[in-house]
Amino acid sequence: MCAVTENAPSVDEFRLAVRSFFDNELPTVLDGVVGQLNRAKVWRAALYDAGLTGLDYPTDYGGQGLGPEYAAAYNEESRGLVPREDSVFGIGVGMAMPTIRDFGSDELKDRFLRPGLRGDDIWCQMYSEPGAGSDLAGLATRADLDGDEWVVTGQKVWTSGAQHSQYAILLARTDFDAPKHRGVTMFVLPVEQDGVTVRPLVQMTGEAEFNEVFIDEARIPKTWVVGDVNGGWRTAVALLAHERVQTGVASVGGSSGQRSKAGRVPIPVDQLIELARDRNQLDDPVTRQELARLYTGETIMGYLKKTGVHPSIGKLWRTIQGRAAADTAARLAFPASPAWSDDGSPRAIDEDYFAYHILNCRGMSLGGGTDEIQRNTLGERALGLPREPGPAKETPFKELPRN
Ligand SMILES: Cc1cc2nc3c(=O)[nH]c(=O)nc-3n(C[C@H](O)[C@H](O)[C@H](O)COP(=O)(O)OP(=O)(O)OC[C@H]3O[C@@H](n4cnc5c(N)ncnc54)[C@H](O)[C@@H]3O)c2cc1C
Repeated sequence: MCAVTENAPSVDEFRLAVRSFFDNELPTVLDGVVGQLNRAKVWRAALYDAGLTGLDYPTDYGGQGLGPEYAAAYNEESRGLVPREDSVFGIGVGMAMPTIRDFGSDELKDRFLRPGLRGDDIWCQMYSEPGAGSDLAGLATRADLDGDEWVVTGQKVWTSGAQHSQYAILLARTDFDAPKHRGVTMFVLPVEQDGVTVRPLVQMTGEAEFNEVFIDEARIPKTWVVGDVNGGWRTAVALLAHERVQTGVASVGGSSGQRSKAGRVPIPVDQLIELARDRNQLDDPVTRQELARLYTGETIMGYLKKTGVHPSIGKLWRTIQGRAAADTAARLAFPASPAWSDDGSPRAIDEDYFAYHILNCRGMSLGGGTDEIQRNTLGERALGLPREPGPAKETPFKELPRN
């Protein structure tokens, strides 16, 4: 945590500044800006320039040097107002920046925090591989030191947003003789280079949110290691904790005013109430019961977001709420069949939006770690149950059975 700056505004003054930004400044700034990526970049630069992001980051690295009460005030005042396009920065601002802030060298902090917080750079997360998802420590992409550079070769998959990214937080194996958790290193990989090939994968929603990435002797400066060489498991787990907040409690708080396909959040309940009203179903007892259940879940999570909750509980909630909200939307929007029109009418736009979320919600139970892995985490780390059986922890990676 950084020292609070002198002459900081009071929390009440800060709240007024946040409200003024969303009420007065942001609509003007975004007026006429089209395209998800453009809108995302313009919004985040405006937020940064108004001094409303990086609140608990050191001022030396582009932050505001404020205490956690300011971040809490920002979250309350901005609830439901943050443009959905901001999800482009979910990995950069939500996961990579806090990990670099907490574990990076001064060089990395100086080079990456300011442009990352301002949204000048887009980041992706290169963890998963074809043979390493839930068993992340089984990753086999290798990095070898060659003079002043690391040379990286391997394959990553499911890499969200890699097609838009300048940098990746990359996990690679740097010691094949060490046990699997001890030979991994976290790097910053420049994505836009000859040795990196990004191929978008089209999902059933029709969007290509994630990619497969082929890495063939890509180069990384020697000093672009986050934390210690072979100490990457520690930083990897720290980043995953940010990811589970990001994909859990942080996904509470959409509003009926935002109908974007960006982001992986449950359909906000007030949008479902509007849908039920539009389809004359508000008096239907089954619909009322479903809406009440969803509203209760969203409200309780809103409270827990303020008080704090284990990240895996937030992540599991998102999956369960996301599916239940999508089921209600499917019943209300498509009672007769799964077909929807695309004639550009308001109703067709409405249907297209709900169809997207009905298809997209399935992926919520995988991205950021599957439901089973969240339950394992809660069982082993929160409840203290015995660990899963597996090979001896000291076995060198190269001797482990692999498929
Ligand atoms: C929309 C989306 C976005 C993603 N974005 C990224 C990204 O940006 N970067 C990135 O690195 N990865 C990303 N991922 C990958 C994601 O982290 C993995 O899909 C996830 O960790 C599961 O890995 P896997 O797909 O290899 O499945 P597997 O690990 O092969 O799991 C298959 C099934 O087995 C179950 N299983 C596995 N191990 C156990 C166990 N020990 N106990 C009980 N059940 C178990 C799983 O729960 C699952 O049901 C994304 C995935 C999705 C769907």
